[in-house]
Amino acid sequence: MFIEPNPVRNPSQLRAGWIEVVCGSMFSGKTEELIRRLNRAKIARLRVEIFKPSIDTRYNETNIVSHNQNAIRSTPVQAAEEILLLAGNCDVVGIDEAQFFDTALVDVCVKLATAGKRVIVAGLDMDFLGKPFGSMPQLLAVAEYVTKVHAICVVCGDIASYSYRTAASTERVLLGETNAYEARCRRCYNLAEHTSPHAVEQHQSGSYEL
Ligand code: ZN
Repeated sequence: MFIEPNPVRNPSQLRAGWIEVVCGSMFSGKTEELIRRLNRAKIARLRVEIFKPSIDTRYNETNIVSHNQNAIRSTPVQAAEEILLLAGNCDVVGIDEAQFFDTALVDVCVKLATAGKRVIVAGLDMDFLGKPFGSMPQLLAVAEYVTKVHAICVVCGDIASYSYRTAASTERVLLGETNAYEARCRRCYNLAEHTSPHAVEQHQSGSYEL
């Protein structure tokens, strides 16, 4: 369980900012953990702003909604740099579905933290072919705190860190189709990868992003 570091309360000092990353596969509870941290920051009377890429509109336009319907209001943005313009007045910046943002997101998060803000980023660490996703590897490198959350393998019940795509779609981004994926452990993911004609075709074509 992540426990928040004590922020500097002396107003004459610049509060030290930092970056937290919450990563994992689909169904691992990333967004629930992001919402938990943001709600605690609200209780601490910190000013909180939440952003998500406008590509992710699977439930509605203005809410981060996790799979358990524990919603929190958020602002959809087209490009990562918009966050710099919109987050000026807040103490804590939440960013969901970080893997879908452009590569400028890394610099944006560093600038926000350097300006004294707490930045909490949640995203998929791997795409459906098990490759590092978008800017997540860079974000993991520059973060002070990294939490990897896990799902449960639907095949064998072990800890799962892979998002296995069950649908035979070749779309690079397949949003809103949570039943097109399964959480799988490494062994069950690899067994399926080696036997699925769809997966082999995807590997050969080089289109490996979700
Ligand atoms: Zn398994």
